[in-house]
Amino acid sequence: MVALPSPFSEIPRIPLMFDRPSDIEHLKRLTEKLASGAEIWMKRDDCNSGLAFGGNKIRKLEYVLADAVAQGADTLVTTGGVQSNHMRQTSAAAARLGMDVALYPRDAVTSTKPEYSYAGNVQLAEILGAETFPVGTSEDQVLEILKSRGRKPYPIPSGASLHPLGGLGYARCAFEILEQEKQLNLPFDVIVTATGSGSTLAGLVVGFKLARERGLLKSKKRLIGYSIMRKQSEVVELVLRIAKTAATHVGLDANDITSDDFEINDSYLGGAYGLLDTRTTDGIKELARTEGILVDPVYTGKAFTGLLDMTRGGQFGHCNVLFLHTGGQVAMSAYPQLK
Ligand SMILES: *Cc1c(COP(=O)(O)O)cnc(C)c1O
Repeated sequence: MVALPSPFSEIPRIPLMFDRPSDIEHLKRLTEKLASGAEIWMKRDDCNSGLAFGGNKIRKLEYVLADAVAQGADTLVTTGGVQSNHMRQTSAAAARLGMDVALYPRDAVTSTKPEYSYAGNVQLAEILGAETFPVGTSEDQVLEILKSRGRKPYPIPSGASLHPLGGLGYARCAFEILEQEKQLNLPFDVIVTATGSGSTLAGLVVGFKLARERGLLKSKKRLIGYSIMRKQSEVVELVLRIAKTAATHVGLDANDITSDDFEINDSYLGGAYGLLDTRTTDGIKELARTEGILVDPVYTGKAFTGLLDMTRGGQFGHCNVLFLHTGGQVAMSAYPQLK
C-alpha cells in the first residue's frame, strides 16, 4: 500500500484501480536498440484497472468520485473529444458505483475517418450505458435536462483536470513510484508523460514536491510533458494552475509550485489534437515491433515518439527514463489508417 503523508492521507478516495501499484517494466530490447546510455522503463497505467481497459483518468476519478458520492450525486456529467478516453473511463466508473453518466462530446478533431464517430471509445461508452447528447450541447443544458428529470448531476470537467481534486490521483502516483524505486533499487531521473488537460503532469509535480518537502526524496526529478494539444506557453499556465490547486489540498503552499518544476515540449504534437501524422505512426510501430507494446494515436504515441527522438538525440544521457503509459489504445479502431 502507498503511504501518503498527512494531510494528503486523510483525503477520501474510492479505490477503482487494482489493489496494487501499476507495473513498471524495463524495455530491454528498446534500450539496447537505442544504445544511447539511457535505460528506458515504462509504468503501465494502461493496465491499472479492471474497468473498461483502465488508463490515467481512473486514477484521477478515485478522488473526484469520492466527492461525487459524498455529495449524494446519482449522475456523472462530463465531456471530451468524440474519442475521449476520459468519457469511456468515467462511464465505466459510474457503472461500478451504480451511477448514471451523461456525456456531451465536443467535436475536437476535424479531419478523420468515418470510424472516428462510432468505433473505439464511442462504442465502449455506449456499451457501458452512457447517455450521449449531440455535439454542441452545453454543460448547462445537460445539467438542466437532468435536474428536470429529478436527477442529481455531478459535473466533471474534461479530463477531470480543472476539478479541484483533479490533480490528487497523480500526486498519489508519485508516492507509488517512489515505493517502486525502493523495490527496484534505482532512481528514475526523468519521467515522461503525454499532456492534454494537464492534471496527470500537475499531479506528479505536486506529489514529488511534497515528497521532497517531507524529506522522502533527495534529488529533483526531471518531469517532462509532451503536449498533444496546445502550444507550450499555454500548457505551462494550465499545469501551474492545476498543480497550485492540488498543492493546497496536500499541505503545500501554492507558491511552492513554479514553472521550474516541470518541462513542456510541444514539438511532437503532430499537427493538431487527434490527427495522426507519419512520425507518430512510425513511433507507434517501432515500439510495437521492438517490445510488443501498443501506444495510442492521440496521446501516448506522440509522447513516446518524442521520447524516442530525444533519446536518439542523446538528450537524456546515462540515466533511467520512466515513460508513464497513460492508456488510450481503445481509440485505435477509430484510426483504421494506422497500420
Ligand atoms: C487524457 C489522456 C492523457 C493526458 O492526461 P492529462 O491529465 O489530460 O494531461 C494522456 N494519455 C491518455 C491516453 C489520455 O487519455
